[in-house]
Amino acid sequence: DAAELVSRWSGPGRTADGLDVSILANVQDGASARSATDFPVQGIGLFRTELAFLDRAKEPDAAEQTALYREVIEAFVPSAGQPDAKIVIRTLDAGSDKPLLFADNGTEANPALGVRGLRVAFGNPGLLDRQLDAIAAAAEATGSSPWVMAPMVATATEARDFAAKVRARGLVAGVMIEIPSAALLAPSILAEVDFVSIGTNDLTQYTMAADRMSAELAYLTDPWQPAVLALINMVASAGSATGKSVGVCGEAAADPLLACVLVGMGVTSLSSAPAAAAGVGAALGQVTTAQCRAAAQAALATADPADARAAAAAPLHA
Ligand code: PEP
Ligand code: MG
Repeated sequence: DAAELVSRWSGPGRTADGLDVSILANVQDGASARSATDFPVQGIGLFRTELAFLDRAKEPDAAEQTALYREVIEAFVPSAGQPDAKIVIRTLDAGSDKPLLFADNGTEANPALGVRGLRVAFGNPGLLDRQLDAIAAAAEATGSSPWVMAPMVATATEARDFAAKVRARGLVAGVMIEIPSAALLAPSILAEVDFVSIGTNDLTQYTMAADRMSAELAYLTDPWQPAVLALINMVASAGSATGKSVGVCGEAAADPLLACVLVGMGVTSLSSAPAAAAGVGAALGQVTTAQCRAAAQAALATADPADARAAAAAPLHA
């Protein structure tokens, strides 16, 4: 039965007709990266570096940052192990729901719309440069090539400036798509970077103008909202046209039915809490790419999240 299929699923991510889809883990430090290896994931799709430093009054120095990034990389790239495991490191996403004492912009009336994510870095370039140096040092020490992405990118110019800094250190550069402007400009942003990853938590918050932490607004902060699906589809289509990798690393990637829809739109990797990996992988293994495409088209034709779910389920026989 279905539960047994999930419990036996051991990866790698692949549809029934053989389309590869990387199933990855969201982690926040060495311990969570090591425990992620107990699940059937092929690497790390989102390392939230800011979460490792939430309790720190001062910016960790170069040696300490390098050691932390090494620890996370080495969980998946042990010296004799998997040199090709995918590791995506996100630069500090400070501010709003993840305040960092050493990258604080003071009191703002609307922190979710304030100086957060990459905006902190451009106001404090030394902070970003030191983090990228530490990531480059960890990459060199482990003989790996992690991908590096920026959070909260709003414009193609921000993407270009970030990518220049990352590539100057020999690293692969990407950005998160989690602001509606970035989704709308996906082709221009993709032209500046090597990959993108859609953060559905914030993309949903900003599309629906509904605080992601509000229980009262949970009916709006639902990634099945057709407006959110439409933006994700724009990004995935733009990615397919370029052949560049388009991941999803928000919690939408943990929903097996939605995962099939995302793949049908052209998403190439799914990253979430590692406990969700087997459910997502097993669901994808049961369906063909054509079924995923039909599910995506059906969901995109609706105007309501419940209708979108029902419409997607039909072609997937879910
Ligand atoms: C997101 O916004 O979907 C995301 C993955 O980033 P975070 O949840 O850390 O803001
Ligand atoms: Mg986010």
